[in-house]
Amino acid sequence: MVRVRFAPSPTGYLHVGGARTAIFNWLLARRQGGVFVLRVEDTDKERSKPEHTQAILDGLNWLGVDWDEGPIFQSEGVERHRADALRLLAEGKAYRDFSDPASVRAEAEARGWHPSKVAREFAFAMSADEADAKAAAGEPFAVRFLVPDGETLFTDMVHGEMRFGSDDIDDLVILRGDGTPVYNLAVVSDDADMAITHVVRGDDHLSNTPKQVLLYRALGYSEPAFGHVPLILGTDGKRLSKRHGATAVGEYASKGVLPEAMFNFLSLLGWSPGDDREVMQRAELIEAFTMERVLKSSSVFDVDKLAWINGRHLALRPIHETVAAVRTGLTAIPGVDPERLSDDPWMTSLVGLHLVRARTVDDLVDQLTTFVVDEVELEEASVAKHWAKDLDLAYSRLESAAEALRTSEWSEEALEGSLRGLAERLEVGAGKVIHPLRVAITGRMASAGIFEVLVLLGREQSMRRVAAGMRSIACRKKDLS
Ligand code: GLU
Repeated sequence: MVRVRFAPSPTGYLHVGGARTAIFNWLLARRQGGVFVLRVEDTDKERSKPEHTQAILDGLNWLGVDWDEGPIFQSEGVERHRADALRLLAEGKAYRDFSDPASVRAEAEARGWHPSKVAREFAFAMSADEADAKAAAGEPFAVRFLVPDGETLFTDMVHGEMRFGSDDIDDLVILRGDGTPVYNLAVVSDDADMAITHVVRGDDHLSNTPKQVLLYRALGYSEPAFGHVPLILGTDGKRLSKRHGATAVGEYASKGVLPEAMFNFLSLLGWSPGDDREVMQRAELIEAFTMERVLKSSSVFDVDKLAWINGRHLALRPIHETVAAVRTGLTAIPGVDPERLSDDPWMTSLVGLHLVRARTVDDLVDQLTTFVVDEVELEEASVAKHWAKDLDLAYSRLESAAEALRTSEWSEEALEGSLRGLAERLEVGAGKVIHPLRVAITGRMASAGIFEVLVLLGREQSMRRVAAGMRSIACRKKDLS
């Protein structure tokens, strides 16, 4: 039975890197029919806050990463952690360290040694009777793990065989002078207690793993399989940080990113299904996920790709949900008459027409605003491009377009026929008619197909906009003269 865990420290929000770790663990559990445990590592009393725990739970809930057991708080296991440390001490696999850190540091500097080596020498220089007497007198001591000589080997699911020499592993403190257990011991004690079979976490923990492996062996607990997933980088190749933009999952949620898009995007950071699929639903990801396909090399957090994936997921959603979200967004715009948003088939056609170009609901709201307001807001860059170079010509093009529209039947085919017919008569490409018209109709140089736009906007509104466009050109001419 596969048992995995996600073990965040509640010292901040849910970071996208943490979320990615959670997702890999979750996918592994769901793929294997296993159990996903949530453990909150709250032993750092200073920095752990209940509001951070809540933010992490909220982030996981939003992503749809549900846990089967927990949240279990690491601080609840302190007695067990302590008992494990004291057992190692009793079995001679750890030793009491009465030394004071300042003199150890000074000595280490003088000899050019690692402080733990000095601490070991100090401890070993003390007789067992002396140590017992000090302890009995209540003198505080740390418990240090006695790292055995030789090599420590383990097989990482991502990186393959890993070897660490005992010189590279220091005698780590497992219980501090004040009796509090240290992270590496607590993690091993908890993972063993929870019968965790696979530890999947970030590469930044790779250097802890040989220490933890030694602790498993010393405590006689069976070791889980370890898998260290590669770092996430920004597009400049540096480790992802706030400099690159938002790193909190919650920030993406509030920016209109869909949870299924974020889940999909994060699952592709350091993993691939092995074919060219990129837009994947949760069920497909569960089906395809294996640790063998986790990449060794780091991956890049590319916000443009996230936006693209979001657009694809937006298009996959049931359209009535998107229509409802867009309606809410449009209602909030000043001057928008809610009456105009009540025609469901019309709203659905509008949303459907713009979905291919949109990446978020906000994009849709932005593109649809022009359909529900009375006056078009002209974008100056579009005016400059398609009107201002030759105002007289733009005016006459709109004038003839108005005539063609006035006499046309109001369907896509008929409008297309009329406008293309006009361009032919004027002996110009269709764009010369359509571009200035698009500016008058939408205020912008880019929009969905103009014939569809005209149909959805309706004859009356369209004609009004062309007339307003002509007036605007006339004013601009006057301003110039
Ligand atoms: N609490 C640790 C962290 O937030 C994770 C420990 C682990 O996964 O073993 O980085």
